[in-house]
Amino acid sequence: MNAEILAVGHELLMGEIVDTNSSYIAQQLSGTGITVQWMSHIGDNIDHLSNAFKRGLERSDVVISTGGLGPTSDDLTREAVSNAVGEAMKVDPDILSWLEGVFARRGMEMPPTNIKQATLIPSATSIPNPNGTAPGWWVEKDGKHIVIMPGPPRELKEVWEATVGPKFGEISGSGVTATRTLKTHGLSEGGIDEILSDLFGQDNPYLGIYAHAEGIHLRMIGRGPDQKAAEKIIEPVEAEIRRLIGDSIWGTDDDTPAGRAASILIDRKQTLAVVEGASSGALASMLHVLPEREAFFRGALVPGSGPIHAGHEPATINPDGALTLAHIARKTLSADVGVSVTPVNLDDGNVYIGMASDSGTHVAQGRFPRRNPQWVIQRSATTAIVQLLAALSTDQI
Ligand code: AMP
Ligand code: MG
Repeated sequence: MNAEILAVGHELLMGEIVDTNSSYIAQQLSGTGITVQWMSHIGDNIDHLSNAFKRGLERSDVVISTGGLGPTSDDLTREAVSNAVGEAMKVDPDILSWLEGVFARRGMEMPPTNIKQATLIPSATSIPNPNGTAPGWWVEKDGKHIVIMPGPPRELKEVWEATVGPKFGEISGSGVTATRTLKTHGLSEGGIDEILSDLFGQDNPYLGIYAHAEGIHLRMIGRGPDQKAAEKIIEPVEAEIRRLIGDSIWGTDDDTPAGRAASILIDRKQTLAVVEGASSGALASMLHVLPEREAFFRGALVPGSGPIHAGHEPATINPDGALTLAHIARKTLSADVGVSVTPVNLDDGNVYIGMASDSGTHVAQGRFPRRNPQWVIQRSATTAIVQLLAALSTDQI
């Protein structure tokens, strides 16, 4: 089966928001046997939208859209589908009473403009949207499917997971999918591609490679008649990846570098303190959101305009200065492990990550092109947490 995705909204064409919905949908379909062949962005214009759905029905088995289901007059996806299949919209009493209930629970009267969110056409069934006021439609006509879903990413995800994804699993006969992500550090995309070249290019299990600031992720998607069978499809590929690059894998699925570093520290019964130049508190935020923070995180020093003094001299931006600062963090906050992120030296774009504990010291280096300050803050914090995890995993500190 082939599919196309239509992302609806003038704001997409103005470049005001980034279309994350299309990539979400495409990711969800990958490995189901439904192949996405086109993606389009269409403004809130009834003629353009109606034509997009008509063209979609001509060339695709499945047309999936997001956006344009709001109550206002510029939200026209329902009207466009109604034009494309030649069926009139009618208010559905069940959806209407559900919608009135949503407003009643918010203590509001339903504005008349929202009534159009309670409409259907004869070929459509309603797709429940527990997070919003815009249910989707699933239209089946002449063996083709049109699925229209809300634009807000949180609503879209919920609607997909609860209703649309499972139904596509049934239709495509692809059954259930299982996914597994392996997260790596210290290898390049090209390097991994070369080592694992034999594993790429298969349909089931499918292996994808994704570059993130924290390292390269490898995502396997297996398909089978049930969950167990789908997981079984993935197993040999995971084993082979681990055999080839196991040393570079630091986590799986929802693991974060901060969470992994925290669990190593907690296992070792050690505490952590950080001093942050370039990362300006972003490293502390990553640690602070962990539910287990009280068990290991002693806190952060985030200097302002003045230099951080090591004894009498300001600590300088070099590997020795980074270690001096790591020791200051340890001592000042009475922690077992100290980590420093020195300010970026804008001449050469270097940031040094100093790490110190009783069992050793280590300095890692990150090199950044000079972008905007927010980027440097995030990037240096990510570098610091990834380097800390690497140093802890290899007992360098
Ligand atoms: P709409 O359903 O068109 O009223 O969209 C409501 C909101 O959802 C928009 O204002 C955006 O913030 C968000 N949104 C709509 N389409 C997309 C998309 N393709 N990707 C990400 N966000 C979107
Ligand atoms: Mg819109």
